[in-house]
Parts: sequence; C-alpha cells; structure tokens
Amino acid sequence: MNIQRDGPVIKIKVLGRSSGSRTLIVNSKEIAIHLNRDPDGISKFFGYLLGTLSYYKKEEEQIYLYGMYTFDNLTEVLNNFTDQFVQCGDCLSLVTEEFISSNTIAFICRNCGKTTLCDPQHKYVQFRIRSIKRIIRLVLL
Ligand SMILES: [Zn+2]
Repeated sequence: MNIQRDGPVIKIKVLGRSSGSRTLIVNSKEIAIHLNRDPDGISKFFGYLLGTLSYYKKEEEQIYLYGMYTFDNLTEVLNNFTDQFVQCGDCLSLVTEEFISSNTIAFICRNCGKTTLCDPQHKYVQFRIRSIKRIIRLVLL
C-alpha cells in the first residue's frame, strides 16, 4: 500500500519491450524541485533500490530506469527516498535542505531547525558526497 503524499504524483512512460525496456519518470524535474534534491541523486537512489541502471537525462529532464516498473513500484521507492533523505524526523516537514557534514550528508529542516544525519554507508549518500565534492572542486578551479 502506498501513502500518497502531497506534491507531484509520479508520471511514468515505458519504452520498448522485455530486455530492452526502459521506464521513464517523465516529471523528474518537478519532483526534484518539490523535494529540493538533485535529480541525479534521485535517479541513483531509484537504481540502487531497484537493482538496475539509472540516470537523469538533463536535456529531457527525465529519469531513465532500465527495465519495466509500475507506478506503484516507483511511488514506493520515492516514498522510501523521502522518508530517509528528505522528511524531517521531528516535525515531518518536507522543506529541508541537504548539505555535507564531515563524512556524510545531512539535511536541515526549514520548519523546526532540526538537523538529520544520513547513514554514511548508504550508496546514495556516497554518491551525493562525490557529486558535491566534484562541484566544489569545479568552483574552486
Ligand atoms: Zn522539522
């Protein structure tokens, strides 16, 4: 069972059949903006949880997932992402901001001010740290 949260509902499109199929999250950018998270990172989270290859295609503003997935599959993954990496553990607000904190990432709640530290072992966290550090290096050059 999926709890429908406020905010955009996932819109999907399946391309191709069987082994060559891809599932697209058509409104990836809208979802990323709503959650205030990087769409690249969200695409990787989907890939890790579903055990498939995934990427965010910037020009199309869509997440591509290898394989066929249903609306329910993807809504569950998105809810899981929101629970772990977006929603404030204290006041349940979704208005939070991600940042690097020593060896992990954390997010601060804009509603109550609480900081939540994320599990540094999670692949999503490791991916985000690498991407953020890459961006910092580019800015410093
Ligand atoms: Zn809060």
